[in-house]
Amino acid sequence: MTAHPYAGKRIVLTSKHEKLKLIKPAFDQYLGCDLFEENLDTDQLGTFSGEIERTAPPRETAILKARLGMNSTGLKIGVASEGSVSPDPVIPFVNSNIEHLVLVDDENQIVISEVYRSFDITVATITTSPGKDISEFLQTADFPNHGLIVRPNAEKKNDCVKGIRDLDSLNNAIAASSRISANGLAVIESDLRAHFSPSRQKNIAIVAKQLAVRASRLCPSCQMPGWGRSGYEKGLKCSTCKLENPDAIRQAKTSCDNCNHILLGQVLAKELDPANCQFCNP
Ligand SMILES: [Zn+2]
Ligand SMILES: [Zn+2]
Repeated sequence: MTAHPYAGKRIVLTSKHEKLKLIKPAFDQYLGCDLFEENLDTDQLGTFSGEIERTAPPRETAILKARLGMNSTGLKIGVASEGSVSPDPVIPFVNSNIEHLVLVDDENQIVISEVYRSFDITVATITTSPGKDISEFLQTADFPNHGLIVRPNAEKKNDCVKGIRDLDSLNNAIAASSRISANGLAVIESDLRAHFSPSRQKNIAIVAKQLAVRASRLCPSCQMPGWGRSGYEKGLKCSTCKLENPDAIRQAKTSCDNCNHILLGQVLAKELDPANCQFCNP
């Protein structure tokens, strides 16, 4: 058996927020590559706390970040992540953390990517003023295990004090923010940068494992890394009324982005249960 193309390879992780320790273990285990961190300012591509708006979609932003590290080191393979925490796109009133991780491989002209969505994320925000009892909020925010940001209460997110992890700094920041705020109020919110958010760290480690596993698998047709689950074949007929639901899952699909080779997995269902039929059970 020939060695995996990434075994022993130097691969650069562009990161500002100490993500190497979250991502490297899975890359060591599944790829045996030499992943190292290139600490670069990626704020030009947008910031987590929102002072600089992100313009590109998250996967594209991650690719741009990976290229920053590749350009600065001269290496052909780079990794970067891009995450967001926001109200879930599907489920109302729930926050979700979506983590994208990409591996850009210019030696083979491929990009391998993974995404992980989790509801396991500690995020909280409150508007307050100096001297107010915020102990309940601090518990919800899991402070000081999770870091906080304080800023004046204004539409524009300016004058942020970030990375707060102790009560003295928190109280000082509330006082300072309230002094320069037009209405005397300060906003406290979770600092969701990876190094201040242990719940996000867990999710980054999970997407790192997903990506490392995908990259470790070679396409059976073209031998490129990145062979993995790519979605589902859909469309099932109801066993009672025989009408088709085009969204019902029939079987898993594994495919290669490079050569488009596709392999269909085990059939998960042949017919639709009338209980799930939009016509029999609307
Ligand atoms: Zn292929
Ligand atoms: Zn039916």
